[in-house]
Amino acid sequence: MDAMPELPEVEITARLLDAALSGAAVSYARAPGINALRTFDPPLSALEGARVRSVRRRGKQFVVRFDTGGEPLALLVHLMSAGRLQLFDKPAGPRDRTSRVLLGLDGGRELRLREFGSKQAAWVRLLAARALEHEDALASLGPDAWPDPGDEAALRALLDAPRPLHALLRDQHVLAGIGRSWADEILWHARLSPYKRGADLEDGELARLREAIVGVLGDALAHYERTVALPIPDKLPMPLHVHRHEGEPCPRCAHTLHAVHFEDYVIAYCPHCQTEGRVLKDRRLSRLLR
Ligand SMILES: [Zn+2]
Repeated sequence: MDAMPELPEVEITARLLDAALSGAAVSYARAPGINALRTFDPPLSALEGARVRSVRRRGKQFVVRFDTGGEPLALLVHLMSAGRLQLFDKPAGPRDRTSRVLLGLDGGRELRLREFGSKQAAWVRLLAARALEHEDALASLGPDAWPDPGDEAALRALLDAPRPLHALLRDQHVLAGIGRSWADEILWHARLSPYKRGADLEDGELARLREAIVGVLGDALAHYERTVALPIPDKLPMPLHVHRHEGEPCPRCAHTLHAVHFEDYVIAYCPHCQTEGRVLKDRRLSRLLR
């Protein structure tokens, strides 16, 4: 699993699942991933007999609402770095080690939260739908980066901090939905250094950044609308131009794309387009040389 699901990947999944599952009845609900279910009241079995009302996205999380005949319920789902929420025509076999949460649905279908790799980080929380607005995993989020992160004044207020843009864009309390992949693409599109501080943005730069946030995420979603169908593939090819393309020519200026390597992620950028020709110090190399 390489691509981490961010706003466009979660949004296309939510749209497809919403269309496929609205009104579907839940026949069973199980959590074979013992760490995945982060709540115990109501129990997961409270979903049995319920019907899916809607599947929506907030930030990088899914909000699946259910009508139960009594108190409406909501399932919050976070894929973290390696999860997928997938709908299959039949149940998973007993040997499937990727399943974290399973919902049986009418017609023999199964909605599966799956996770690839060794870590178990993806999670779900089941709560009364009326408790959603107080749920910290949602209430602590900044505005959704797409479709409207706010006007330029609102965005300036959000980004007005002495922190690098790459970190600010990925901070879910500042803006919700952007991660490592799309932060690289957005900053490249806006021709801004990943290390420029948010508080130092000039008006023209802020306008470019806002346009890049909305445009890049919207274009990615439009791409997925044309290319993705259920079940969401294990590997969803992301339409990236810069992220993971270091060493290749910049699609805009043809100079070589560079990268800064950190412990668990990489920032890719074009020195010619984004840093006035300066090559940023590669922390990985400097650590090796120390
Ligand atoms: Zn370039």
